[in-house]
Amino acid sequence: MRRRAAKLALLCCVPAWMYGQKPDRDAPQPQVVDPGGPGRAPSDAVALFNGKDMSGWTRVDGGPAQCQVANAVMSCRTGAGDIVSVEKFRSAQIHLEFAVPHMPEQKGQLKGNSGVYLHGCYEVQILDSYNNPTYPNGQCGAIYGVAAPLVNASRPPEQWQSFDIILRAPQCNAEGKVTTPATVTVLHNGVLIHERVTIPGPGPGCRFKNECEPRPLLLQDHSGFPNAPDTTMRFRNIWVRKLD
Ligand code: MG
Repeated sequence: MRRRAAKLALLCCVPAWMYGQKPDRDAPQPQVVDPGGPGRAPSDAVALFNGKDMSGWTRVDGGPAQCQVANAVMSCRTGAGDIVSVEKFRSAQIHLEFAVPHMPEQKGQLKGNSGVYLHGCYEVQILDSYNNPTYPNGQCGAIYGVAAPLVNASRPPEQWQSFDIILRAPQCNAEGKVTTPATVTVLHNGVLIHERVTIPGPGPGCRFKNECEPRPLLLQDHSGFPNAPDTTMRFRNIWVRKLD
């Protein structure tokens, strides 16, 4: 009994260095960042949407974005066109909040369809996927046509939801050729739905082909698709922390 107690005492007191952990007291201190909070970005983030107007966004053709802004919410009606952030980035932590409309008369891909296009090319799908089955790699949170989300963490329509995305940009050589493709990790409403998924190169519809340059975030207007209904998507609190 006494020997067992001694053994237990020894086990509980094994110092961390025996596991290879070693304090480095000379290392520089990490930068101090105010983490923000609900509706407030971390202090080192770049706000893509200032909550007041659409000055941080344009149409893809460079014209003024047609979304309406009120109470720190951007409302984009079908027909307004895809919009892109003025800010461009490569690797980044991206936060975005969205609310899909209640569309009981619709189903599948016609129910609250929008999307967040990373680097203007790789779509993380926005859709009402609350009790709305569709093909898995096209549901809300899917990397469209590439990977279904690990789980369906959708909230009902009209409720605010969030994406937190870690985008690792493609690595390129001196000639500007991609040597390692981009990867994406996504949390939907705080739940992990993709972990370091490899993104194939830009598809034929991508308007920002140079994968080695900083590129914008694009928000999709789904109105160009067959039978797309009239609707309004809402977005708020959109920011990036550049990781390069
Ligand atoms: Mg979409």
